[in-house]
Parts: sequence; structure tokens; C-alpha cells
Amino acid sequence: MRDRLRVACSAAGRSPDEVELLVVTKFFPAEDVVRLIDLGEREFGESREPEAGRKVAQVRAERSEPAVFDMIGRLQRNKAKTVAGWARCVHSLDSERLATALDTAAAAARDDGVRHDPLDVLIQVSLDGDTSRGGVAADDLDPLAQHVASADALRLRGLMCIAPLEGEPERWMHRAATVRAQFLRSHPDAEVLSAGMSGDLDVAVAYGSTCVRVGTAILGERPIVSP
Ligand SMILES: *Cc1c(COP(=O)(O)O)cnc(C)c1O
Repeated sequence: MRDRLRVACSAAGRSPDEVELLVVTKFFPAEDVVRLIDLGEREFGESREPEAGRKVAQVRAERSEPAVFDMIGRLQRNKAKTVAGWARCVHSLDSERLATALDTAAAAARDDGVRHDPLDVLIQVSLDGDTSRGGVAADDLDPLAQHVASADALRLRGLMCIAPLEGEPERWMHRAATVRAQFLRSHPDAEVLSAGMSGDLDVAVAYGSTCVRVGTAILGERPIVSP
């Protein structure tokens, strides 16, 4: 995978240092994460609670390496509290109500000494405008970003997107790059673009992704039943 990522970066005229590889370990047990840590991986993506929180606790009990875990999946407000206890970054922020819940939870986690840094967030943008599958329409990014800016315990880092299944990845990643360029004009520090998965990471890198989220291409097909 590192080779594929290097090739994609070099084809795009970019340095591999510009693109983080998040290994998506959802559905895989903590033992597999421990193995990946032993192989040198440090950044992981999880998408479901309570599976994720339990797994992170187990991994941290077994390995002291400074591994980080991001929440990349859809998140309900009632899970904000547990997620704020373990996540470095939430990639799937798509409502003011969720932002408020995460802000409260991250502040409480800080008071409790469970976390030290603010909770990083990415706003998930819906590339086709169908927000039923998560994300906000491009037109709604600014109000949500302003809301996040007023939240003390959150830090806005950028945008996340998932290319819709219909249509060519090129089209969607081009759209992501356009939306991001526009967004950066009013939020110049929010430079992260979390885009690209096993099937389209090469295209995503060509269009400026700074973080690819890769599961299947590293770990194989996910087990049907979660741990
Ligand atoms: C599962 C998941 C991925 C990884 O997908 P693969 O195709 O297995 O690489 C990436 N992003 C999100 C949001 C996911 O839920």
C-alpha cells in the first residue's frame, strides 16, 4: 500500500509526506491493530461505536506506541461522549447539533484528563448533494464551519468526502477539489482533505487529498460479524 501511495503521489507531482495513510480497521479485531502497530502503522480509522471505543482501549492496554484513531463513520450525537474520549479527529461532522455535542464532550474529556488536545474535526461534504448518506451540501459548509469556529474544544481541520458509487471517481474528486478550493478561501487553515479509499485513492491523491482512508486494499475483505 505504501508503494501504491508513493506511485500515486509521484504521478501527481506530490511528496508522499503530504498524504496520510489511515488504515481502516473497522470490523477487524484489536489483535489486528496491534499487529499493524508492530509493523509500524500509527494512524487508524474506525467507523462504529461501541466497537471502536472498546478496540482502542484494548490496543492501548497492549501497546504503548503513540497510535492515533480517527472516527470516520456516521456518528449519532449520543455517541459523542465516548468518541471524544478516544478520537484524534472526527471526519464525519455534518450538523451543528453534532458539533455542539462533540464540543461539550471534548471539553468534558479535557476536564477529566482523558484528552489533552482539542478534538479535530473535518466537515463531511456531500459531493452529489444527497445528504441522506451523510455530509452537508457544499452551500451549507460555511455556516457549519463558523459554528465549529465558535466551539472551544473543537478545531476545524478541513473537509472529508466519500465519492458516490455512481459515476467516475474523477468527476467526484474534481468536484471535491473545487469545493475545497472555495472553502479554503474563507478557512485558509483548514487544509486537510480526507478523500480516497481502496478503490479511488490514486484519483483522490491526484486531486489533492491529504488523507486516504484505506481498509480492504490493506486488510482484505472485512469479516461479516464485527468483534
Ligand atoms: C470503510 C470505510 C473506508 C475504507 O473503505 P475501503 O474501501 O475498505 O478502503 C473509508 N472511509 C469510510 C468513511 C469508511 O466507512
